[in-house]
Amino acid sequence: GLLYLCCWAAMADAKYKDPKLPIGIRIKDLLNHMTLAEKIGQMTQIERKNATVDVMKKFFIGSVLSGGGSTPKTNASAADWINMVNEMQKGSLSTRLGIPMIYGIDAVHGHNNVYKATIFPHNVGLGATRDPDLVKRIGAATALEVRATGIPYAFAPCIAVCRDPRWGRCYESYSEDPMIVQQMTELIPGLQGDIPANSRKGVPYVGGKDKVAACAKHFVGDGGTVNGINENNTVASGHDVYSIHMPAYYNSIIKGVSTVMASYSSLNGVKMHANRAMLTDFLKDTLHFRGFVISDWEGIDRITSPAHANYTYSIEASINAGVDMVMVPYNYPEFLNDLTDLVNKKAIPMSRIDDAVRRILRVKFSMGLFENPLSDHSFADKLGCKEHRELAREAVRKSLVLLKNGKSPNQPLVPLPKKAPKILVAGTHADNLGYQCGGWTIEWQGLSGNNMTDGTTILKAIKATVDPSTNVIFEENPTPDFVKSQGFSYAVVIVGEVPYAETNGDSLNLTIPEPGPTTITNVCGAIKCVVVVVSGRPVVIEPYVQSIDALVVAWLPGSEGQGVADVLFGDYRFTGRLARTWFKSVDQLPMSLGDAHYDPLFPFGFGLETKPNSH
Ligand code: BGC
Repeated sequence: GLLYLCCWAAMADAKYKDPKLPIGIRIKDLLNHMTLAEKIGQMTQIERKNATVDVMKKFFIGSVLSGGGSTPKTNASAADWINMVNEMQKGSLSTRLGIPMIYGIDAVHGHNNVYKATIFPHNVGLGATRDPDLVKRIGAATALEVRATGIPYAFAPCIAVCRDPRWGRCYESYSEDPMIVQQMTELIPGLQGDIPANSRKGVPYVGGKDKVAACAKHFVGDGGTVNGINENNTVASGHDVYSIHMPAYYNSIIKGVSTVMASYSSLNGVKMHANRAMLTDFLKDTLHFRGFVISDWEGIDRITSPAHANYTYSIEASINAGVDMVMVPYNYPEFLNDLTDLVNKKAIPMSRIDDAVRRILRVKFSMGLFENPLSDHSFADKLGCKEHRELAREAVRKSLVLLKNGKSPNQPLVPLPKKAPKILVAGTHADNLGYQCGGWTIEWQGLSGNNMTDGTTILKAIKATVDPSTNVIFEENPTPDFVKSQGFSYAVVIVGEVPYAETNGDSLNLTIPEPGPTTITNVCGAIKCVVVVVSGRPVVIEPYVQSIDALVVAWLPGSEGQGVADVLFGDYRFTGRLARTWFKSVDQLPMSLGDAHYDPLFPFGFGLETKPNSH
């Protein structure tokens, strides 16, 4: 009792609690106070479903996540989220040292797990904007919406350089071109704030209560796997690694990114989660990254095949390789026990544990988490606010790429006339908010339909944009006879991919699912038509191009379908350009600019422009 009292008294004015002291001194002081159990707890990130107050306290858990759309309840409000996160945080704060936990979430195109948040276009569309400043503003808006729910950490940006569209995560990649991906790391200062001019290279930076910690992922080579197979092996020369997959990490580190996530994939046969040469020797020592490396979801388990075959080995190999925090959604008691044993028998040196904990504490101190561990409702009005929806609409406008306009150059079809007696809107993707948003929206795999969250479908946007006298008829999959017999002026056909995420999106054929192709054939064979493709990547379109009068790719535009109508009807010009090569047929893949056999349907950088309508 007496001992406890004396230590408690010493702790009350411990140096680490003093915000006026330099962070280095605070880290050193706190580390000196910590037991092994407290250190290992910091290195552990668990799924929110398991993060009861008791668990937080008992195991000194350092971090919690909402993996792939895991929400406290269906249609949870900002207040529900704040209450949940604060509750867990109170558990952490009531421990002996009161180290706050950090809550992380996949806010990868806006705060996409959250009901009523603004859903921005996926990265593949943002790449087509060629507008890093826009991406930075999206980062700032996303930070506010994430903070509106009491969360200080986003697992974004994905800076994969997707080299093969058959990869199910192609839409999470800004471009096949490393330079565009480098430019789009502007999302990081958007999320975290601009680093002060005198910052030391590689030191994590988060500018305040309206900013969140970012995470550059997935390190490294996730977008280069053989045949675009998710989590597969990337075979690359040193030159390819450093000139294609690595450059955006240089930018991210210079911009003060707080965390880096390891990739499930392997690099030349070595699992990234066990790749000491890349995680420690290169990322930390050569590039001076001073934030923490987080594993992917059960990423260390997948070092072995089958996954979790030798968990002790997985822990030893990954922590020794340089993983600092382990995203260990379910098996955390096993993780905590095994890691403790490994340290006790010196299979993992204490210096490695201390390094990991120092990095985690550095992020927590630098973002002011010790001073502001609990969230209030001061950003509640930011979630899905008008300004952010306007920003998303701007992003949609700039992301659209016009691939064809008229069967001959002197007969352009777009911009479409707003005033017409009767127009046809067709296709599975015309009136489907879930399809527009794609994967990583409300649910991990995405959703179908319009009841999932707030937003404007493209059909609704068209109706709101045309002249009040124009009769808009929607028929999802009309017959040729219907199309011919109704006296339509022209048709807008909106088709594309249905939502998917990660491995579920790996595809060998990249075709538009039926009835999409049938709708194109039935409508475009009968009357003048513009086809709008809603997809996360280039898809097979070559067989239909001849019959189509105008062709637009909208990528996965998110909740603000109005941006599509703004440009289609000429209130704004088409300015987007392909940040990906559009293949003719899948047997050309992989194919990127610079390849000897480069023979695309539409080359990288292609995009027609239009003049605005006179109205
Ligand atoms: C993905 C990551 C994501 C994590 C947490 C993993 O499956 O690869 O990108 O951040 O889940 O949801």
